[in-house]
Amino acid sequence: MKALRWHGTGDVSVDTVDDPQILDAHDCIIDVSLTAICGSDLHLFDGYIPTMEDGDILGHEFMGEVVEVGSGVQTLKKGDRVVVPFPIACGHCHYCNRDEYSLCDNSNPNKEVQAAAYGYGGAGLYGYSHMMGGFDGGQAEYVRVPYADVGPLKVPESLTDEQVLFLTDIYPTGYQAAVNCDIQQGDVVAVWGCGPVGLFAQISAKMLGAQVIGIDRIPERLRMAEQFAGSTVLNFEDEDVFDKLKEVNDGRGPNACIDAVGLEAHGLGLTGVAQKAEQALKLQTDRGTALIEAIQSCGKGGTVSIAGVYGGVLNHVNMGAAFGKGLTFKMGQTHVQKYIRDLLGHVERGELDPSYIITHKAPLAKAPELYETFRDKDDDCVKVVLDTSW
Ligand code: NAD
Ligand code: ZN
Repeated sequence: MKALRWHGTGDVSVDTVDDPQILDAHDCIIDVSLTAICGSDLHLFDGYIPTMEDGDILGHEFMGEVVEVGSGVQTLKKGDRVVVPFPIACGHCHYCNRDEYSLCDNSNPNKEVQAAAYGYGGAGLYGYSHMMGGFDGGQAEYVRVPYADVGPLKVPESLTDEQVLFLTDIYPTGYQAAVNCDIQQGDVVAVWGCGPVGLFAQISAKMLGAQVIGIDRIPERLRMAEQFAGSTVLNFEDEDVFDKLKEVNDGRGPNACIDAVGLEAHGLGLTGVAQKAEQALKLQTDRGTALIEAIQSCGKGGTVSIAGVYGGVLNHVNMGAAFGKGLTFKMGQTHVQKYIRDLLGHVERGELDPSYIITHKAPLAKAPELYETFRDKDDDCVKVVLDTSW
């Protein structure tokens, strides 16, 4: 089969590899119809995530048709059309029983490696390094799906692939980020990042009753934040985000702040209040601008909800401000299995059409150049989906 493989920082190619096989009675094999490139894939592309190996197959946002099931699989059969959550979860450990699927204790065979590096072992993830289990990803014609009775969700024929694909990750991720803000009707929620995750965080916060402010610098993404999510927008290159957000809620600041940027801020250098904090505190900061601004800008008693991915130690976080304002922090990988059914309901009832954010659709063969387009935000690129059948 054809698959998109990682060979080093900034180096991916579509190669011919062996087809996946059933390795466990609870596995199934999916014939991938549509798969997407995620902001999280850019962290791999940019070389930020350790324990990648030459030839690893990328991709954790994918859907398709079940073509083979292991002897122990009970809920799926050949021919079912499914979307697959990005965290792999056993469904019965201490964490899965609490709906904390992305903390699953059993799905990552290499969790000791992760624990040695970070002090904990989380769930296995598709196409996301050996520390996270070394599972082949779904930017491929076929993919092996472990714990097939726990993750994959059957989707109705009435909805297109484009409408349901983002249930695998970015819609639940934006939704969890908004749920974590504990929104009361009329709260003001500021969201750093109008990329795919930020856009779903914004529309979710709006659906939960918030007035939303979306922050980015890219005109097409700011336009989408206004039109898709009904947000008021701030371009951080034109305006001082901290000063602007100070004005909301009669000067009290936002009730909650969502960081939907993560490591991405690294490439941009510091902006606004993060720059001032660096000068004032004599810090040398090279990443986490959005998080620094979110903490500084959040109103007293508010919540900082972090959807953006961080890896390893991040310094220069103003714990004094966070402590003094009594902030609540919520963060983490998304427990996709917890939300996916409800969110499918939103799509079925026409409450939103996730396909709105797709700007680029191309055959898998074009993936290498589209990784660059998506990373560089060229060509008004917001979300890339790859069709494996062309
Ligand atoms: P993306 O790279 O397309 O979007 C990031 C956006 O942030 C860009 O539009 C960029 O212009 C903007 N940005 C950069 N610096 C900024 C700043 N200082 N202030 C405001 N905006 C800024 O990525 P995405 O697909 O939207 O993903 C966003 C983040 O979410 C990534 O870190 C990704 O790894 C993470 N993510 C987390 C989970 C999870 O389970 N928690 C799941 C999926 C993605
Ligand atoms: Zn993703």
